[in-house]
Formats: sequence, C-alpha cells, structure tokens
Amino acid sequence: MTESTYRIQGATGEWEVVIGLEVHAQITTNAKLFSGAATAFGAEPNTQVSLVDAAMPGMLPVPNRECIRQAVRTGMAIEAQINRWSRFDRKNYFYADLPQGYQISQLYHPIVGEGQIEIVLDEKNPETSTKVIGVERIHVEQDAGKLMHDQHPTSSYVDLNRSGVALMEIVSKPDMRSPAEAGAYLAKLRTILRYVGSCDGNMDQGSMRADVNVSVRKPGEEFGTRTETKNVNSVRFVMAVVEHEANRQVDVLEAGGKIVQETRLYDPDRGETRSMRSKEDAHDYRYFPDPDLLPIELDEAFLAECRASLPELPDAKRKRYEQALGLSAYNAATLTADADTARWFELLVTQSAAAQKKSESDVAKAAANWLLSDLYGALNRLGKSLEESPVSPSQAAELLALVADGTLSGSLAKQVFEIMLETGDAPAKIVEDRGMKQTSDTGAIEAVVAKILADNGDKVAQYKGGKEALFGFFVGQTMKAMQGKANPQVVNELVKKGLAG
Ligand code: ADP
Ligand code: MG
Repeated sequence: MTESTYRIQGATGEWEVVIGLEVHAQITTNAKLFSGAATAFGAEPNTQVSLVDAAMPGMLPVPNRECIRQAVRTGMAIEAQINRWSRFDRKNYFYADLPQGYQISQLYHPIVGEGQIEIVLDEKNPETSTKVIGVERIHVEQDAGKLMHDQHPTSSYVDLNRSGVALMEIVSKPDMRSPAEAGAYLAKLRTILRYVGSCDGNMDQGSMRADVNVSVRKPGEEFGTRTETKNVNSVRFVMAVVEHEANRQVDVLEAGGKIVQETRLYDPDRGETRSMRSKEDAHDYRYFPDPDLLPIELDEAFLAECRASLPELPDAKRKRYEQALGLSAYNAATLTADADTARWFELLVTQSAAAQKKSESDVAKAAANWLLSDLYGALNRLGKSLEESPVSPSQAAELLALVADGTLSGSLAKQVFEIMLETGDAPAKIVEDRGMKQTSDTGAIEAVVAKILADNGDKVAQYKGGKEALFGFFVGQTMKAMQGKANPQVVNELVKKGLAG
C-alpha cells in the first residue's frame, strides 16, 4: 500500500490533508422510496408527485422493495456487512422543499455497515499504487424537492418531482490523504455503482453528488476540525474542493486562527468554497424511529438473490483481463473502468476467437489494442460514444480476422476501417470490391525493389558505405510504390536480398 504524498508547506512546518466523502447516489428504480410516483429525469415540474410525496394528511409511506434490494446489492459489491435488521428514522428540520417537515433516513440502524473500496492511483503500476479506502456505512433515505426563485416579480416556486426519490448515502471513513485519492475514490465508486446498476452515476444530472469533508493536521497528530462542502457534482470539482479547502485551512491555522465546523458551498466559477451555515449536531435534528414504518428484516432467500444477481465486478474483471487474457495492467484498467466498454470488448474477443478459430487469450491483445487506439481514435474524431459506434463488435472481429490471416497488413486494415466507418460495409466486401488485399507475390515485389534500387544508386552506395539507416527508406519507397498492399515482412526480406546482391 502506498500513500500519494500531498503535503502543504506552511511557516510552522508541513501539513497533511484528511478527507472523508459522503456520497448521495440516486437509486435506479421506476418509483420513489415510499410511493409509486415516477422518477424520470427532466420531467415538467410537479408531474411526478403522489399524495405521499406531497405529505397530504393521512398518507402512509410504503417501502419500495427494489430500492432496498439495490442498496443491499451495492453493499455486497463493496464487501460490506449487510445488516439483516434495519430501521428508518425521522430527521426533523424545516425543509421548504420537503412538505413532511422531516426526512425519512436511517441514523441508528443503517441497512449496510462497514465495507471497502480499492483505488489505484497509477494505472500503469497497480501493484505499487493500490490503496483500500474504508466505507463506514450505506443508508437509504429520501431526497428533497427543489426550490426556484424568481426576481421579477419576486416569488418562489417548489418542484416536488425529486421529493421522496430514493437515495443511498455512502459514507467513507476519513481515509483519503490527497486530492488524487479523493478523485480516484469517487470515480471508482461511480464505476462500481454503474456495474451493479444501482445508480446511473450521472453527476451532471444530480444523480450522484458528494459532500466533501476536509481537515488538516501536522502528520502524526490528531485529526483536526473538518468542514463539509456540500453537493459537489464532478470528480474534478471534488479534487478542486480538497485542494482549495486544505490550503485555506492551513492559511487560517498558520495565522493563529481556528477552523470552525461548518457547511460550505463550492463555487466552480471562482474555484473557491464559501461558508453557508455552522454545522448542526445530530441532536438538533431530534431523530427518532419513524412510527409509520416497520423495521426491515432481510431473509436468506432475498440475500441469496441479491448476491446471485451481481455481475463480475471491476476489480475481478481487471485481474482476469491481466491474468487470463494477458493484457497489460494499463489496458486492463482502461477497459474495465466503464461497464459498457468492458461489454463491447468482451463481445469483440468472443467473436474474434470464433472468427479466427483461436482461444480468447490468443486474440485478446490485438483486440484490446485495436479498440483502445483505432476505434477510440475514430470515435473521438467523430465525437461519438462507444454505444454510437458505426462499427459493431462482429464487424470489427471480421476486420481483425483479415489481419490475422495475412489478407490485410496493419496499414491496409486502417484504410479498410476508415471505409467501414464511412460506408458501413463489411470488411470482406471492401477488400473484394476495391482490391485491397495485401500481396505476398514475391515476383511483383521483387520487380519493384529492383526498380527502386536502380533509381537510387547514390543511396545504395551510401548504404553499402555504412549508412544503414537508409534501409527504412528503401522499404518505405517499395511500400509506397505498391500502394501499401505489399506484405511488409516480404518487402523487408526482398530489400535485404536486393541490397546484398
Ligand atoms: P456527520 O454524521 O456529522 O456528518 P460523520 O462522523 O458521520 O459525521 O462523518 C461524516 C464524514 O466526515 C465521513 O465521511 C467521515 O469520514 C468524515 N470525517 C470525519 N472526521 C473527519 C475529519 N477530521 N477530517 C476529514 N473528514 C472527516
Ligand atoms: Mg453527514
């Protein structure tokens, strides 16, 4: 285990930063936590509100089984303690955007206890840069609605679409020590949630947001007083908050001041945090068990189903790509960072193996390299995502098979790929229609080599005089004359032979 060293130099010595993240993740379900109202993003205000969400008198909450299931599956994915008995509590507060006047949450008995998330700080060297970050708990709670304020005329509106939407609050231990670690933790958590399917991880739509707790201390000393910066909605912003807040705290402390425990807000435009309110202690919320809800008890069959429904998770997949498929650590990390990329890659590998009648481990490396350089390069250029790829895994597998059997050289394959992107035609058809086959016809290549050598007598003399770097020139000229269709290995041999003769 390594720690990325992040130290702030002050006049009185070096400071270390301590970070804990509380992440709110919206659970992917069709209905809210305690009502049947819909949860789709972007709906017209107040079109997804049931009488329960509007807290009409006499309405009673009914827990949504799917929300509980997703929280349990998420807990299992981070190897956490699953609590078979949990309970909902009321957190009382003046919420202008939550008409109940309290939020239903879980303080005393959360559904998920301690777990862990492994982060890798340097994807090229995972063995030496892995760190385990502890997770304290995951509990399930309601989201609040949204207020909108108008200046002309002065009035405020409330949209209750989000009111009652199910959230998981995932609370880390104060185990992170640098902006990079905080960023890696959040990115990894998002990857896991997306693999599990319990949250879509779309931070720009607010379905995942982080409260960033930061304090500073002299290394080895007790933890300092922390501040909490609320609702930070991107990995980059979380890193910026840590950086800014740690430096601000060091400045305050070095000037003889004290850090007060408070809630702050991040202003991305100015790149700084601002004080919002001093932090309430838990007792100010007068938490108590919600009398409208029974405790949740999970039985063995439910837990077994949750476990069985989990997919292969990113860490396991990354290790399998390295060990069973022989990929580099970096490629394995890149391909597994996102569930959709891994799915595409696995289809490509399966179909390549079938097309070439080889084992998956024999074709995986070429498939990985092609996906990460050729396909990603093209998608970047076209401004498309992998799901929008104009070329399917099976078409790509056909292309790679033509390289493997020698029909296409690497450079011809790139040309064929470009035509595939433009026309959507199958690679075999393109090769056939346009005569793009690579030739190993020694007679034809020999004739071209002979002509190139004859036309460049001066360079031949220089080569024979010791300027061996010219070898590449003769190969290049031959390839050019053959319009890239000559088998490069055969060209090499024949140039060598020609120069020796
Ligand atoms: P609360 O319930 O008041 O929000 P918790 O003890 O549950 O407080 O901690 C909330 C978050 O703050 C956790 O993610 C935890 O890791 C983090 N945290 C606690 N103490 C510190 C500290 N001294 N510095 C930085 N983060 C901290
Ligand atoms: Mg908190």
